[in-house]
Amino acid sequence: MSGKTILYVEDNELNRKIVRDLLKRTTYVLSEAFDCEAGVAKALAEKPGLILMDIQLPKISGMDAMRQIRADPAMAATPIIAITSFALSGDDRKAKAAGATDYLAKPYSPLDLLGLIRKLLPEGDK
Ligand SMILES: [Mg+2]
Repeated sequence: MSGKTILYVEDNELNRKIVRDLLKRTTYVLSEAFDCEAGVAKALAEKPGLILMDIQLPKISGMDAMRQIRADPAMAATPIIAITSFALSGDDRKAKAAGATDYLAKPYSPLDLLGLIRKLLPEGDK
């Protein structure tokens, strides 16, 4: 593996493209999943270095996805950044209770997201 892997679980293609473009200029390797089921399966199989978790996913929410991922002892310490839409409604606290290391509320600046990623998973030497 040439870079550290980040798994992004997000159902919205435009949001995935923004993060894809953001990480192109870094050494991180991006893995993507579109829903909870695929996201949990990829997290447990690929053991990424960091997970970006959209909270609003179809059918099963990102909150449940984080709980399922955290249930695997091998994923207990993996940084998870929750992407919430409703910071004012307490989603930030709920996300942390469900296992998120940190969170960003939409709309966020891509550079803020990159800063948070680098803080939790240092990019390392190129
Ligand atoms: Mg969504």
